[in-house]
Amino acid sequence: MKICSTLHNHCMLCDGASTLQEMAAAAYAAGFSDLGISCHTWAPFDPGFGVRDEPAYRAAVAFLRESWRGRLHISCGMEQDFYAPAAQRDKLDYVIGSLHYLADVAQGRYFAVDSSAAQLAQAIEELFDGNGLAAAEAYYRELTRLARQQQPDIIGHFDLVVKHNRGNRFFDEESAAYRDAALTALEAVAATGAVFELNTRAVYRGHRAAPYPADFLLRRLRELGAPVMLSADCHLAAELTAGLTEAAARLRGLGFREVAVWHDGGFTSQRL
Ligand SMILES: [Zn+2]
Ligand SMILES: [Zn+2]
Repeated sequence: MKICSTLHNHCMLCDGASTLQEMAAAAYAAGFSDLGISCHTWAPFDPGFGVRDEPAYRAAVAFLRESWRGRLHISCGMEQDFYAPAAQRDKLDYVIGSLHYLADVAQGRYFAVDSSAAQLAQAIEELFDGNGLAAAEAYYRELTRLARQQQPDIIGHFDLVVKHNRGNRFFDEESAAYRDAALTALEAVAATGAVFELNTRAVYRGHRAAPYPADFLLRRLRELGAPVMLSADCHLAAELTAGLTEAAARLRGLGFREVAVWHDGGFTSQRL
């Protein structure tokens, strides 16, 4: 099964390592009809990796689109963090809404949940008195607010908070309390109509054995009939298709019959 589109992709204009042209060449070689670029929005509290100049970013993607016209459809999106939304969303083809931080916004303190176990541990210690489950519950409450307030087209790596929770180090992913928090948020996010992604990055980077979201969440998405697309969340042209074949097989194994795909500026579906 070959999907026709890929939308969650970074490049050197944010924290990716490939140029836009390298990304387009890789997408064309892999047989995609549609490539979306989704660089991170700029966050003043974490200024290292996002796009500072959105007009220049959009112009660079527009130039790429023109140079590949007739061979590859190219769309301009952004991955916007909840705490750092895009400045000019209406000029983008789509946005991926992601929650990367546990935060005390009033105090201006932000801890990335996906950068290291040490940083997650620090967030749990300083914001949640050492209670890992409380941190996970807060993550899902904020993700629900994200979906309702910002209405992203796509919800990024739904259960990212588990990335550094190997061996249930900080909270028990099998517990009823954890699963309730995640499922409640999942249903609230699904009700907004956002497309979920099956995101393979943590698997091919060696952080997790299974992609985001976990199977119990995917099963609920199937029951709800919520749209799911496949994402490599790539930061390097060579990663553009990483894990996607396995991800499609995983969805088939869970009973999905189709995936959401992006064609020429809008979502449609493709049989698995
Ligand atoms: Zn992300
Ligand atoms: Zn990303």
